[in-house]
Amino acid sequence: MRIALYGYGKMGKAIEQIALQRGHTVVLKVDRDAAGTSPTGVDVAIEFSEPGVAVDNMRTCLAHGVPVVVGTTGWYDRLTEVQALVREHQGSLLWASNFSIGVNLFFRINRQLAALMDQQAAYGVHLDEIHHIHKKDAPSGTALTLAKDIDLRVKRYAGWALQDAEGQAPIAAEVKPVPIRSERIGEVPGKHSITWSSADDRITITHEAFGRTGFATGAVVAAEWLLGTAATGPRKGLFTMDDVLDVNPS
Ligand code: NAD
Repeated sequence: MRIALYGYGKMGKAIEQIALQRGHTVVLKVDRDAAGTSPTGVDVAIEFSEPGVAVDNMRTCLAHGVPVVVGTTGWYDRLTEVQALVREHQGSLLWASNFSIGVNLFFRINRQLAALMDQQAAYGVHLDEIHHIHKKDAPSGTALTLAKDIDLRVKRYAGWALQDAEGQAPIAAEVKPVPIRSERIGEVPGKHSITWSSADDRITITHEAFGRTGFATGAVVAAEWLLGTAATGPRKGLFTMDDVLDVNPS
């Protein structure tokens, strides 16, 4: 694959390494100083930039008929707009709040645990996420996916809320937002925990990334999947990592 990288920061550089290892070529690197550059002569674009510019980069790629894999987080309130762009251009776009295979399995465990907890009113949930101090958005996109999956399966939760300094969710009501505590510490690549507590006990599940390689590998695998084969051509539409892993959301 001839790849364009939109965003050449920590993730862009990690993706370049993995892409080269898998026999691909990086023909274009678009960082802040070259913002808006068109993806000419490329098969696929991989976008890991910043929340405020990600949708512009998606629009540029779709307008040029280039399939795009999006790892940037923090733009999900514009998902409907992106959906419309994909339709308008009959394009190919795959996004994921987290490209690591382990996290996508973790998403599935979270859904199953949440489905069980719907019947167990004695248990309350909270999410904890820790990332490096350079991360621009909070909560993380991964935490938002986890919270949304709980919201969809447990009737006593709707939406999410950042915990205040005392560690209490700000709203107390019959239907509560999923409380999320975001911490920014050193160079932590990403750690997410979901804890269900009752008066008697506690269940915690945790995923901890050791580095960026897992995200980068997942993004390149996703680009390979989106491009399909020479015979089929690119897959058309809006996809997520679930489509790549053929995971049926439960
Ligand atoms: P980073 O700050 O190291 O890199 C971001 C880069 O984007 C910078 O080099 C910046 O100059 C560049 N940039 C700014 N404006 C741009 C523009 N208009 N066009 C192209 N590039 C532009 O950040 P990072 O750690 O590489 O993370 C990038 C994004 O990916 C963040 O949103 C982060 O949350 C997300 N992320 C997602 C996953 C995942 O699996 N989905 C994993 C890790 C990080």
